[in-house]
Amino acid sequence: MKVLVINAGSSSLKYQLIDMQTESPIAKGGCERIGLDGSFCKHKANGKDVTITSPMPTHKEAIQVVLDALVDKEHGAISSMDEIDAVGHRIVHSGEEFNDSVLLTDETMATIESLSELAPLHQPANVIGVKACKAIMPNVPMVGVFDTAFHSSMPEKAYIYGIPYEAYKDYKIRRYGFHGTSHRFVSGEAAKYLGREDDKNFKVVTLHLGNGSSISAVKGGKSLDTSMSFTPLGGVPMGTRSGDMDPAIVEFLANKYGMTLAETLNYLNKKSGVSGLSGVSSDFRDLRNAAAEGNHRAQLALDVFTYSCRKYLGAYAAALGGVDCIVFTAGIGEHDGGVRMSIVEDLEYMGVVVDKAKNDNLTDGICEISAKDSKVKVLVIPTNEELVIARDTQRLAK
Ligand code: ADP
Repeated sequence: MKVLVINAGSSSLKYQLIDMQTESPIAKGGCERIGLDGSFCKHKANGKDVTITSPMPTHKEAIQVVLDALVDKEHGAISSMDEIDAVGHRIVHSGEEFNDSVLLTDETMATIESLSELAPLHQPANVIGVKACKAIMPNVPMVGVFDTAFHSSMPEKAYIYGIPYEAYKDYKIRRYGFHGTSHRFVSGEAAKYLGREDDKNFKVVTLHLGNGSSISAVKGGKSLDTSMSFTPLGGVPMGTRSGDMDPAIVEFLANKYGMTLAETLNYLNKKSGVSGLSGVSSDFRDLRNAAAEGNHRAQLALDVFTYSCRKYLGAYAAALGGVDCIVFTAGIGEHDGGVRMSIVEDLEYMGVVVDKAKNDNLTDGICEISAKDSKVKVLVIPTNEELVIARDTQRLAK
């Protein structure tokens, strides 16, 4: 079976064609500047990289460019569109309506559209991507895989805020959490790696540290708590997002800088985090270089980030009643050994002992960076959200 995985943003569309027999991508790429001048598609298959420039006024033209690229004689991966057995779409928000991936029918699509208010920047783009795909491939089963669904297992006490209960009842204001496909994937891989797949008591803290970062407490394969919140703005400071802070700061900031509420939220989403703190970059490689040259604010940004992650780790260890395993994943989690070390060093009292040499010399695939005598296993696991989407799509399309 071959599954096409689509991740549609407002002006972009990323894709992977995955052969489910080998569970590996046979083609991948992304269209950019959809709806703008100069749209193009970067496509990779058959060991070839090509850039296709073509007008893409809407997502429908973008999907057509992708399908044409996939069947192209030179740089394609399949001989006809009929080889695509199903399409899996990344959808941001499941609200409280879905606790698992779903087959995308008119009915489930209407429900998904009705949740746009909860993710106004992303959900409409996801929906447009599905509709464009359905228009071109009406007979191919489509499945929606949500960022939030994995966290639907959180207990009430973890997702309800300390504000009047009516806000939850009337407007569903609660913690939803994001990066669910990644937390599900890496916690599952950790359980498999350690032979604890069927252990309902296996306690993992997963740290997805990338451009956006979130940390989850997972027990027996179920999410019990997570740091992102009502929106992805909550939790640890990120590349450009502030993360948690006193909500009273919002009004104070707006007054002091003369910003509207929308401008203030933009400030917290796009101008804050390690980028705003350092004044250098949102990219941790740039922060490391600047800090090494003595830039105090770059070092401070790294310290604020790792300190916040460390506090979540401690909080989730308490919430879970112990930890068997800590997993690092995503761009920073997989590549920045310094960040990993700052988060898990000096935690021997918790049973966490890291082997510095292992942490500094990762190999491909799952890497165990804890010392032999560490009670808690510390793993680095490359995430693969596309594979999760493809697996769910295969399961539901069948
Ligand atoms: P996204 O949330 O966009 O999927 P990623 O998970 O790909 O993000 O993470 C991107 C971030 O990972 C970059 O902004 C950068 O900070 C960090 N990163 C990537 N490679 C390295 C590296 N070698 N060393 C340190 N940080 C890295």
